[in-house]
Amino acid sequence: MLKGKTALVTGSTSGIGLGIAKALAAQGANLVMNGFGDVEVPKAEIAAYGVKVVHHGADMSKPAEIEAMMKFAAEQFGRVDILVNNAGIQHVALVEDFPPEKWDAIIAINLTSAFHTTRLALPAMKAANWGRVLNIASAHGLVASAQKSAYVASKHGLVGFTKSLALETATTGITSNAICPGWVLTPLVQKQIDDRAKRENITVDQANKDLLGEKQPSLQFTTPEQLGDLAVFLCSPSGNNVRGVAWQIDGGWTAQ
Ligand code: NAD
Repeated sequence: MLKGKTALVTGSTSGIGLGIAKALAAQGANLVMNGFGDVEVPKAEIAAYGVKVVHHGADMSKPAEIEAMMKFAAEQFGRVDILVNNAGIQHVALVEDFPPEKWDAIIAINLTSAFHTTRLALPAMKAANWGRVLNIASAHGLVASAQKSAYVASKHGLVGFTKSLALETATTGITSNAICPGWVLTPLVQKQIDDRAKRENITVDQANKDLLGEKQPSLQFTTPEQLGDLAVFLCSPSGNNVRGVAWQIDGGWTAQ
């Protein structure tokens, strides 16, 4: 379905970004990967779908590096058709204890990077009159939790950005939507589970159950594969008139 299209997924060396990149590759899209850590294993997993895959290691907190990545993508494939703004980080602390440099990093990576990638991808999408911008927000783009002020602010901001862009592109073939996962068992969440187990002197298994029980009524993690399937739907012709939504896939978290 996406043969001949190019997808750029920020933060696709791990977790949700990798799940979405694989789902798009399975539909035939070529991939520009981004993110830190091991690149070769995830790159091979994506390439196994028979598509062309390249990686750019831009740091999403640095606008000049984002510009270099978008230029690199255009040189490799002509343009980005599907932009998935996924890279994100977390830090947990009370507002008065929140390190200002962590606040700045979370806003830069989780929110501002999406503005830069999008502004640079849009002209070519407009010229082709087709494009998809998928912003990976969170249940925390819709509701809050204590001790996550920067993350909640960044994700609410990302949902707002998604809606503004959807209005600006409403009469075109470009759509802009946010995906709002609840808990997904990735390295980002595993760290919170491990910290909780240590803090409360309980087993990791118990910390796992407590984490889900607190927020996610289904008591099940959302999976990167389920998020990949939702991304594919939003890229399909059936998604042509889905515009400006913040689509929960959160086991009932935000229904409470
Ligand atoms: P993860 O830690 O597994 O992956 C994060 C990815 O972002 C990695 O590829 C990492 O290398 C990359 N990254 C981090 N900082 C970067 C930077 N400065 N520049 C470039 N790349 C960078 O996390 P994940 O759980 O897969 O999270 C992905 C997105 O999904 C995040 O935006 C997160 O907020 C969101 N999300 C996660 C959950 C969850 O439960 N895991 C829930 C809702 C939303």
